Amino acid sequence: MVKIFIDPGHGGNDPGAVANGLKEKELTLKIAKKIQSLLGEYQNISVKLSRTTDVYLSLSERANLANAWGADYFISVHINAGGGTGFESYIYNGNVSSATIAYQNVMHQEIMKAISGVKDRGKKRANYAVLRKTKMPAILTENLFIDHSTDASKLKSDSFLSQIAFGHVQGLEKAFGLKKKAAAKPSSAKPAASNQKVYRVQVGAFADRKNAEKLAAELKKKGYPAFITK
Ligand SMILES: [Zn+2]
Repeated sequence: MVKIFIDPGHGGNDPGAVANGLKEKELTLKIAKKIQSLLGEYQNISVKLSRTTDVYLSLSERANLANAWGADYFISVHINAGGGTGFESYIYNGNVSSATIAYQNVMHQEIMKAISGVKDRGKKRANYAVLRKTKMPAILTENLFIDHSTDASKLKSDSFLSQIAFGHVQGLEKAFGLKKKAAAKPSSAKPAASNQKVYRVQVGAFADRKNAEKLAAELKKKGYPAFITK
């Protein structure tokens, strides 16, 4: 059983970065819940979130929850701000295990693949409290800049948030050798092609809208314009 702890950054009276009508605390929670939902398709995995609602938790509380639970991996999800564009990931800048570095390599690569077209700001290291205080390998992802107009318009798209989540999950799949549950792929999940070569994902064909969003994200990644119809 692989135990994945997901920490949506900020919350409650700490909104994180705020710009362009967006709040970091809301985006991080959406992405974290999408990661949790996608991970539901895998076997031998247990997922816990530091928060599932708009509540405040200190950085120590977040790390303590993961430590007490005995998580195998800690992922803190954030949105960047302060002038810039693109994606970057962080691990602790002190002593870390070789697994921490290996996981960052694969997570970073898979997230960049899932959000292609976004500037890669690189794999970085910093003395962040959640990275320092967690006892297991840990990563912090900074998913685009809330105060950059192009980044913000992407962050306003629910399907883009799904792509970010999908990248995290692809990274976890590769890092931990996760396998999908046998019943995870309904036969109805195949998209039908129209004569205009537009692939439409019909939400009614899915038990869960998240599955449709994930498929749409996968198709978009492959270069197909995918739309989720209501
Ligand atoms: Zn943040």
